[in-house]
Amino acid sequence: MGFQGSLSRSYPGAVPAMVYVQRSIEALAAEGFAPENTLAGVAVCRDELTRPFVAMVREVWGEAFELGSLGGLVFAGKAGIAAMLAHTPVRRRRRAVFFGLSHVGIDVDGEVGRVHRDGHPEASYACGALVGLLGRLERGELRTGLDPANIEFSLLRDRVLPRLRHPAHTDLLELTEVARGLIAAELDIRVREDAIEVDWALFSGVLIHGPEGDWVAPGSAWLEVGGARRAL
Ligand SMILES: [Zn+2]
Repeated sequence: MGFQGSLSRSYPGAVPAMVYVQRSIEALAAEGFAPENTLAGVAVCRDELTRPFVAMVREVWGEAFELGSLGGLVFAGKAGIAAMLAHTPVRRRRRAVFFGLSHVGIDVDGEVGRVHRDGHPEASYACGALVGLLGRLERGELRTGLDPANIEFSLLRDRVLPRLRHPAHTDLLELTEVARGLIAAELDIRVREDAIEVDWALFSGVLIHGPEGDWVAPGSAWLEVGGARRAL
């Protein structure tokens, strides 16, 4: 079916990644958000494939606080979010903008989960953590609990599992969507519980690595000003 066919079937609302990032600044400009008065926070997977997206955010919003772990999940916790919010520019109102995205590859043949990586003659996978989790689930490995030697992966697994309708019969698209929702929910909880009053926006989505660049399928997005929230 090819990349474009697969993209429009699995992620019909996807746009080129730079369009997505540009829209964020356009959507927030009317509310007074600008790079000089706003700190960006980014939660994406550790995979080097996500670096071009982070570079786009930096290009538009300036240097960004890193919040992502394997899969893009946020385990920075209260202390991590408190640190970031304490770094927001001190103005009459403090402002922060968050980008929280899970990610997936789609290769030139339209195969979901696959990417080409330079230096790898064979197809590779993204998100590797979610593909790894999928393999375990398909083998019936449903063991849970924090593994000190594998902290991020075991936390990822333990957060994702309860959100699956049928853990033994899931697929990468569902895992990717669950991861996106977990990233957004964790940021939401941690920002709202922090003592610093901040006007903030969150853009969630799925970052898609295609053969000729990155795309984003927009997920939930909102703006909260003075404690009042509206969808973006
Ligand atoms: Zn990943």
